[in-house]
Amino acid sequence: MCLFCDIIKGEIPSSKVYEDDFIYCFKDIDPQAPVHFLVVPKAHIGSIDELKPEHKELIGHIFLTIQKLAAEMGLENGYRVVANTKEDGGQSVDHLHFHVLGGRSLTWPPG
Ligand code: C5P
Repeated sequence: MCLFCDIIKGEIPSSKVYEDDFIYCFKDIDPQAPVHFLVVPKAHIGSIDELKPEHKELIGHIFLTIQKLAAEMGLENGYRVVANTKEDGGQSVDHLHFHVLGGRSLTWPPG
């Protein structure tokens, strides 16, 4: 059982912002910025640590889609992409996902 696999299948509701054959993007249920959405590969990959050479094209597709969606959402002043990875990285859902945050000036470092 994987929460994001269930969201991708439509078994758990989500606020979709984009979808294609390879990825599903939806608004984070607990937004940390005026724009906060998640980009999730449809294939179940646990985290960055489970990426393999065969995923190179998928990762390129994810980042080019992030660029396109950020432009569509008016984030011309910039935005942040975050992939919390495993326990110390603060990952709470074990299905690879990229947070895209924007719409305000973000501080650094994160907690
Ligand atoms: O990086 P992390 O694994 O903690 O991110 C998981 C994210 O998934 C959280 O920001 C959480 O708000 C979001 N989430 C969601 N919809 C759900 C469950 C979790 O957007 N139904």
